Amino acid sequence: MTGDGYRDGPETRTELLERAAAYAETVPLDVDTDSIEWSVSDRARRRAGCCLFDGEAVEIRLTWDAYRAAGWRQFTATIRHELIHAWQFQRFGEADHGEQFAAQAARLDAPRHCERFSDARLRLACAREDCGWSADRYRASPPVKEPRAYQCGDCGGALVVVHESGERWRTAAGYQGARERIEEW
Ligand SMILES: [Zn+2]
Ligand SMILES: [Zn+2]
Repeated sequence: MTGDGYRDGPETRTELLERAAAYAETVPLDVDTDSIEWSVSDRARRRAGCCLFDGEAVEIRLTWDAYRAAGWRQFTATIRHELIHAWQFQRFGEADHGEQFAAQAARLDAPRHCERFSDARLRLACAREDCGWSADRYRASPPVKEPRAYQCGDCGGALVVVHESGERWRTAAGYQGARERIEEW
């Protein structure tokens, strides 16, 4: 957990919402900030923020733990990212991370992909269905990169790695291929 300290940043959820809304006004993007609803999530585990759209109203939900981990200054990048989604929703009725998003993200120095502050997006599992052993992995550890070199601690069976994107692999080559295909690693 690093951060630039939140001595100078919001210390409560209410302050975070106020600060985020005020900060949004300063971002040079043609987005209707008045119609954005801001909320804080204490439950999100992976995403630093998200932008929701119900056909009329846009809501930007910020993750409290992600803010605490990042510090205010770094967290503003998440706010810019979500604002671009708000702009997409207001303008086009949908949002993605395509070329149009990329252009705005580059212009505003915002991350191209949704920021993840905690990412157990990998699961190492026993390939034997009758075993059922599995464990979350937060990064590309050696067994994730080359599952074949390891075995299930419970039954000695082969391992398979499952990424949240749905990609699965059992070999180092499989890992390499998946790594190239997975856009949001
Ligand atoms: Zn996004
Ligand atoms: Zn097993």
